[in-house]
Amino acid sequence: MTTRFIFITGGVVSSLGKGLGSAALGALLQARGYTVRLCKLDPYLNVDPGTMSPFQHGEVYVTDDGAETDLDLGHYERFTGRPAVQSDNVTTGRIYMNVLTKERRGDYLGATIQVIPHITNEIMDFVREKDGSADFVLCEIGGTVGDIESLPFLEAIRQFGNEVGRERSLFIHTTLLPYIAAAGELKTKPTQHSVKELMSVGIRPHILLCRSDRPIPEEECAKIGLFCNIDEKAVIPALDVSTIYEVPLSYHEAGLDEQVLKAFKIDDAKEPDLSVWEDIVARVKSPESEVTIAVIGKYTNLTDSYKSLNEALIHGGIANKTKVNLKFIEAAVFEDESRIHELEDVQGILVPGGFGQRGTEGKIRAAQFAREKKVPYFGICFGMQMAVIEATRNLLGKKSASSTEFGPCDENVVGLMTEWTKGNVKEERGEDTDLGGTMRLGAYPAALKSGSKVAAIYDAQEISERHRHRYEVNADYIADLEKQGLTFSGMSPDGNLPEIIEYPDHPWFIGVQFHPELKSKPFDPHPLFVSFIEAARKQKNLL
Ligand code: GLN
Repeated sequence: MTTRFIFITGGVVSSLGKGLGSAALGALLQARGYTVRLCKLDPYLNVDPGTMSPFQHGEVYVTDDGAETDLDLGHYERFTGRPAVQSDNVTTGRIYMNVLTKERRGDYLGATIQVIPHITNEIMDFVREKDGSADFVLCEIGGTVGDIESLPFLEAIRQFGNEVGRERSLFIHTTLLPYIAAAGELKTKPTQHSVKELMSVGIRPHILLCRSDRPIPEEECAKIGLFCNIDEKAVIPALDVSTIYEVPLSYHEAGLDEQVLKAFKIDDAKEPDLSVWEDIVARVKSPESEVTIAVIGKYTNLTDSYKSLNEALIHGGIANKTKVNLKFIEAAVFEDESRIHELEDVQGILVPGGFGQRGTEGKIRAAQFAREKKVPYFGICFGMQMAVIEATRNLLGKKSASSTEFGPCDENVVGLMTEWTKGNVKEERGEDTDLGGTMRLGAYPAALKSGSKVAAIYDAQEISERHRHRYEVNADYIADLEKQGLTFSGMSPDGNLPEIIEYPDHPWFIGVQFHPELKSKPFDPHPLFVSFIEAARKQKNLL
C-alpha cells in the first residue's frame, strides 16, 4: 500500500474548525473507497490533555487503549468510524519526554541534544510510523502558524514532505476571511500573511481551506490564488454550515476532495457515495419532533467540555428523527430548593461526568427529582455515582452517604479504587499517585444482567465501554440498594465493580460508570442515547 500524507495547518486565528475539516476530508476520502487514518500533533507542553481543565481545553477524549487525548480525535472517530488509538495523538510534552528519556538512557551516545534534529526527528518518527497503515494519513497540526510552539512541528513536517516527496505529501492550510462590515467586503489580507508565514518556514501549501461566514466571490479566490501562488481552484471556500454533519457535503461541493486527488495526480478515483451524510443532514434539518434535555453540570459555560456528549445526544435525536434541545444548568443552582422547578419542563435529565465536590449537592438533588417525578434520567460516570449517593441517602436513610473524592466520610458509597485488573494485569494506585494517566482508563468489558433494561437496549450480554474515573461505587451497598429497587444491571466480569444501575419500575433511569458518548457516531448512534431520547419522546407523549 502506498500511503499518502496530508498535513493540515491553521492560520490567522485559532478555532477555525481544522479538526472538523480534517475529519470531513477523511470521511470524503473514505466515501471514495480509500482507507484513512487521522492524527493530531499538539504543540502544548502537557504530556497529554488528561490533567488539563475542561474550561481551558474542552473535553478529554478517551480511546479504547486508554489514552487521554485531544477532543479532535473525537471528531475523527465520529466522522470516519475508525476507533482512535493512543498513537494518533502526540504533544510537545510527550515528544520531549521521549527524547529526554532516551538522553538519560544514553541512547544518543554523547551527542548534544537539540531541537533540530532530535526533537524534529522524534516528531518525524511519530508521523513515519503511520506509513502503511492507511491509503491516506491526515495529520493535523494544532495551534496557529506563527506560534513559537508550532515551529518544531512545522520544521518536522517540512522535512518529512521532502523525505517522502511531492507525490506522497500534501499541505493544506486553513485560514479565515473576515467580513468587514464598514467596507462590505471579505478580506484576503490575513490569509496572504498567514501563507507568507508558512512559506517563511519552508512550507508552500497546495490547498487553502478558507473559512468564511458568507460566499466568497470567485474573483477573491482568484486573488488569493495569485498572491499565494496557488491554483485558484485549490482555494476552497469553507463556509459556515448549520450542522457539523453537513461539512463533508459542503466541502465536497466546494471541491476539496477533488483537489486533494488532483494534487496527488490520482485520476482513477471513484465518485464518492455521500448518501449516509445526506441522510444524516436530512434528519437533523427536518426533525419530526423535539425534546428538551437538561444537562446538569459544572462546565456548562463552555459546551466544548461536553463535546462528545452533545454529539451523542444529537445522534440519539437523529435515530429518533427528533431535535434535541439542550438546557445546560449549573448544578449548584439546585442547592437552592426553589430552583428545582426549572426541571419541570424538560423531558430528560442528564448528569454527565465530572470531578470535585462543587455542585454535587445540586446533582444529587436533580437525581432525586428525576427518580421521584419519574422523569428519564441518564447518569454518566459521576452522574451514576451521584444517583447511587442519592439512593443511599434517601432510600436507605443513610444521610451522610458520600464519595471519598470529597474527603473522608463514614458512609463511603463511592470510594477510591486502589486496584483492579486490566486484561490479566493488576493495576494499582494509591492516594499519592501522580494525577496524569492514572485513572481507570480506556475500554473495559461489563456483563449485563439478563432481563434488565440495559440488556434489552444493547441487545447483548457483554459490552465494552470506555472509562475515565478514579472512584467506584462501593459494592458493599449493592444488596441493601437492590432491596430498595435499584438494580445493579451491569458489573465487571469478575463481579467486583458496579458498571450500570437502573430502576426497573421507573420509565428510564440508568446510570453508567463509563462514557458511552465517546463511541457514538451519527451513522451509528449509541443504543443508550437512542433509547434515552426515545424515553424523552414518550415523556412528552410523543409516542
Ligand atoms: N470524579 C469521578 C471519579 O473520578 C467521576 C469521573 C467522571 O465522571 N469521569 O471517579
